[in-house]
Amino acid sequence: MNDISRRSFLKSSAVATMSALAASIMNTPVMAEELEPLPSAGTVLEPAREVPAIECDVFVAGAGTAGVIAAIAAARAGASVVMVEKMPAPGGTLCNGGIGINSMFAVRENPEDAERIVGGLCYELMDRMTQENGTTGFLYTPNNDQKTHYRMVADHEIHKGVVCEMLLEAGVHLMLQTYFCGVRMEGSKITAAFIENKSGRSAIVAKQYIDCSGDGDVAEAAGVEQVEIWQDYDQVVGAPCGMVFGIGGIDFDRVVEENPNGAYRPVPITYPNGENLLGSGSLKFVHGRETEKYAPLNELDINFFTSFNFLHENESVYVNNSKGVKLNAAEAEGLTQGEMEMRIKIMRMANAFKACVPGFEKSYITWASNQLGIRASKVTVCDYDISQEEIANATRFEDEIGLYGFHDYGGKDETCLPKAPGFYGFPYRMLLAKGCDNLYMAGRNVTTDIYAHMSTRNTVGCMIMGQGAGVAAALCAQKGCMSRELPYEELREKLLEQGVVLEPQGLLL
Ligand SMILES: Cc1cc2nc3c(=O)[nH]c(=O)nc-3n(C[C@H](O)[C@H](O)[C@H](O)COP(=O)(O)OP(=O)(O)OC[C@H]3O[C@@H](n4cnc5c(N)ncnc54)[C@H](O)[C@@H]3O)c2cc1C
Repeated sequence: MNDISRRSFLKSSAVATMSALAASIMNTPVMAEELEPLPSAGTVLEPAREVPAIECDVFVAGAGTAGVIAAIAAARAGASVVMVEKMPAPGGTLCNGGIGINSMFAVRENPEDAERIVGGLCYELMDRMTQENGTTGFLYTPNNDQKTHYRMVADHEIHKGVVCEMLLEAGVHLMLQTYFCGVRMEGSKITAAFIENKSGRSAIVAKQYIDCSGDGDVAEAAGVEQVEIWQDYDQVVGAPCGMVFGIGGIDFDRVVEENPNGAYRPVPITYPNGENLLGSGSLKFVHGRETEKYAPLNELDINFFTSFNFLHENESVYVNNSKGVKLNAAEAEGLTQGEMEMRIKIMRMANAFKACVPGFEKSYITWASNQLGIRASKVTVCDYDISQEEIANATRFEDEIGLYGFHDYGGKDETCLPKAPGFYGFPYRMLLAKGCDNLYMAGRNVTTDIYAHMSTRNTVGCMIMGQGAGVAAALCAQKGCMSRELPYEELREKLLEQGVVLEPQGLLL
């Protein structure tokens, strides 16, 4: 085929592809549940064996959003720390979906009253990423739904690099591609964690244990009560699981110029230097709202949310599809099904954008999360379970480890937002796994109230919990005490020393 006939072939096949697209998008992907189940072989008794063991002060399961912060906080507080992560890089959902850093600011009606209420390692990490060109810096978004007025978007790759640097500096012993798989208990105390990796199975004999696995894997192994909340998540956000990805090669000028009747919802964004971001920053396609033109997108029956040019020119680095998949990602079959279904959906979504959105004709996928994004699976019952009512009432506690104000459901229901002064406290007790003497929970694996979870589970909330758990575990290891015996004053003093904000300090950018 010569060049000319090749071009006309490509052109005609592009037309055919576009008309076939709506139909192909609707094809249901093959799901694991449709496969013939394999026959059961009953059960097998695994022979007992001795495994090599190492000793440390604090063990952390999961080097995700909360885990890396917990490990660094514990190490900086003087503890020897071992952390295991099943993926080949640390970072967790922050760099696999949650790259909108929500949010370090209190909820305020008037943007001029904006106030940062989060410091500590969360702020330090973002500051170091900004120095490495890995964030947008705080963007002024005076009309954002959740009324936190300043936002930040993080680069997923720079996040991994900066996190590795900070973990090495702090002296954390990180084991990647390593699975936490069990515990040894003595009464209500964990005495060892079992892990598995390329070198085989081994044990970590630690004084204190922090569960940052997102799904409460350590707590489950230790016999702590779990509550499944994934089924309820479609009430609030669309689905308990999703997969964020990026699209490059976009002609943004055309997207803005040819934006037909409300296909995207403009959100004004201004950099701190006053420069505007294309006049608008977000693109939201809502199922059923658009014209014929968007049939392929609509037929996917998915809400799209994407962000313009935030970090990289001509790239929408954050395409979120809030309908995602509804399944229990804390069990193997559901997890596999979700991973496979979302890969197929991403491919179809990218093709749908390409086929019908002006400006996306030459676009392509630039990245996709390297594991399924899980908003919620099950949560662990802790000594204190913060409620939505307490969040809305801006409740403060006598044992706070941090302050938080962001609420992801606030845009849909303003009554969910904390009332003045626009933030609430995280009590230390919310981190203590019920009935276990030396296990702390941090991240999306706490908070049973689905509406309250829509606040606590966000990236910044997870990092606040991580720092609280890390410092507490280090202090308990040093004092030789259990989690409930730690005097709060000592914990507070160390948190303040690490820069945690426990009383608001006015606008700080
Ligand atoms: C699609 C999506 C979009 C989101 N968007 C935003 C957003 O824009 N802004 C925002 O603030 N929040 C957002 N969130 C929420 C937020 O990102 C997450 O709730 C938060 O990052 C969870 O942090 P975590 O530390 O609890 O869990 P994770 O960050 O998921 O960390 C858990 C870690 O544990 C590891 N792990 C699990 N089990 C084991 C095991 N047995 N052994 C070893 N390692 C294990 C995992 O691999 C992972 O690295 C989003 C969430 C999703 C799913």
